[in-house]
Parts: sequence; structure tokens; C-alpha cells
Amino acid sequence: MPVPLPVLAPPALDLSVVIPIYNEEANIPTLYQRLRGVIDPMGVRCEFIFINDGSRDRSLELVQALAEQHADVRFIDFSRNFGHQIAVTAGLDLSQGEAVVIIDADLQDPPELIPQLYQKLHEGYEVVYAKRRRREGESAMKLFTAKLFYRLLARITNVSIPVDTGDFRIISRKVVEALKQMPEQNKFLRGQISWIGYRQTYVEYDRAQRAGGETGYTYGKMIRLALDGITAFSDVPLKAATIMGFSVSGIAFLVLLYTLYARFIAHDYQPGWPSLMVSILFLGGVQLISVGLIGEYLARLSTNVRRRPLYIISKTNIPITLAPPAAP
Ligand code: UDP
Ligand code: MG
Repeated sequence: MPVPLPVLAPPALDLSVVIPIYNEEANIPTLYQRLRGVIDPMGVRCEFIFINDGSRDRSLELVQALAEQHADVRFIDFSRNFGHQIAVTAGLDLSQGEAVVIIDADLQDPPELIPQLYQKLHEGYEVVYAKRRRREGESAMKLFTAKLFYRLLARITNVSIPVDTGDFRIISRKVVEALKQMPEQNKFLRGQISWIGYRQTYVEYDRAQRAGGETGYTYGKMIRLALDGITAFSDVPLKAATIMGFSVSGIAFLVLLYTLYARFIAHDYQPGWPSLMVSILFLGGVQLISVGLIGEYLARLSTNVRRRPLYIISKTNIPITLAPPAAP
């Protein structure tokens, strides 16, 4: 028996603003004020979706209080910390706007840029991302690793993921619907959005420093995000293992020829443990790296095979059944 397809009501809103929250009590009041100050004059029908990603401070209280006072404020409260990318995904899943803005809660992404993004979207683009011209107040280490990561990613992936952009952007309903069809568990939204295609463009801005509170992105989380991005969009590391294997074997073969020559023709043969040690360690290293790389892919494969829901919602004021859409 054919299952009737759900008929989606056309979105009744012009704009959804998706804001992931992790320990942002210091920023929520200012953020909300600045968002309102920017969006109210735009005269659009808008909703604000705050996703509380397992904060351990008063963030949830603040957001719930806002939701009680303003009908257009929605909140989604996760059962625990699921991570920034998943929080944004939940916001997108439950958003209704014809266009959706993704913005960080710490005011590093200036809300004042939203009208410009919105306007550009209406010039016939499906994605307008905000490209950082400068980043202020971040550690040299973060700047360096971020720069390195974006360049590396651009080199080894086959989708062109724009450099120096985070998730601050506006996307159209079309793109949101396309994202919902991508079931991967290891989310790397900027990569997925590039992969989707359509006409995409950017506006430039200077990235401010965090207004208050502390970054929720530890180096551990950053490394995981980087690996998610790389493994989801590139097979180069796997191939690199093969290439390394071939080159090491090639070198080993040359060394073998040389050894035979030294032993039987030149007769200056010395029992050499340094060369032995070096080659054993080198080979061991290459093998471990290769196995590790395979492991990274395999781990993600198994996560996706398990098909767990991406997130668990504990509370929300959005009228839905409390289950994220099941993976197809
Ligand atoms: N965030 C989140 N879950 C996390 C970590 C961060 O929802 O596990 C949110 C955070 O509240 C902020 C955004 O993601 O709105 C970006 O995080 P953060 O500013 O800590 O990252 P950074 O700017 O340092 O890269
Ligand atoms: Mg930040």
C-alpha cells in the first residue's frame, strides 16, 4: 500500500534565526537585544530558535524567560551536550522560515550583518555566507590552526569549501530541505552546504572577539570537527596511506640494491644497526598512521550504520512530536 507523502505547508515565516547555545548566559541578553534591534526594522515575519546544547549555567532559564515574553522566541532544550553542529542541525530541522540565518550566540558574528545577508539572498542566491576579513581577540594558536585547516581542507576535498568562513550565513528553504535529506551523523555543515551547490556568494566582515563567557570549543572538539570535515569530504588521506606505502617500498627497494652492491661488489660491508633501526621505526610509523587513518573512516562508518537519532530533545515550545526525523 503506498504511503501517502506528507504535504508540507508553505512556510509562514520569512526568516528563522538559529542560535546554538552552550553556556552563554553572559551573552544572551545583549544578543537578543541586538538581534531585535536589527530584525524588527526589517519588517519580516521572523522566529528566533535558541537551541540549548546542554548548558551548565543559567542559559536555559534566560531563553525560557524570553520565550514566555515573546511569541516569536522558540527554544529547544537538548538532553545533554551534543555539539555545535548538531545543535544547529536541530534548529534547521524545526525552523519554518523561508530563509534561515545561522549565528553564534557569543556575538562574534555581528547581527548587524543580517539585513545585508538577507538582501543578498534575494538577489537570486540560495546561500550567502559571511567571510571573515579579520578575526580579533583570538589566540595566535587558534588563528594559525584555523588558517591551516581551511587551506588543507581546500586542497584535499573535492567540494570547494570556502576558506575563512564559519557557519554564520543565511540559507534558503531549498537548502534547508536538502540538508534534511543528508543523514550523516558526523555533521560538517559548511561542507554539506557547499556540496549541495546552487548559487552561493558571500559578504565580508570583521570578526569581533567573544563578548562574554568562554569558548565552548575545546581543542578536542576542534580536532573532531576538523576530522569530520576531512573524512566526510575527502578520500585523500586514505589514498595518502597507499602513496606512502608505495614510496616507502620504493625507497626500501633502492636501499636493498645498495646493500647488495656494498656487500658483494664494493666489499665495504658494515653490520649497521642504525639503518635497521631507522627503517623499522619509519615503517612502523607509516603503518600506524595508515591504520589510524583507516580507523578514523571506519569509526564514522560504524556511527552511521548505528543510525541513532542525531539528538534527543528534552523540552521545546515548538509544537512538534518530540522525535527528530528518523534517518531514511
Ligand atoms: N556551542 C554549542 N555546543 C558546543 C560548543 C559551542 O552549541 O558544544 C555554541 C556556542 O554557544 C556558540 C557557538 O556554538 O553559540 C560557537 O561556539 P564558540 O563561540 O565556543 O566557538 P568559537 O567561536 O570559539 O570557535
Ligand atoms: Mg565564538
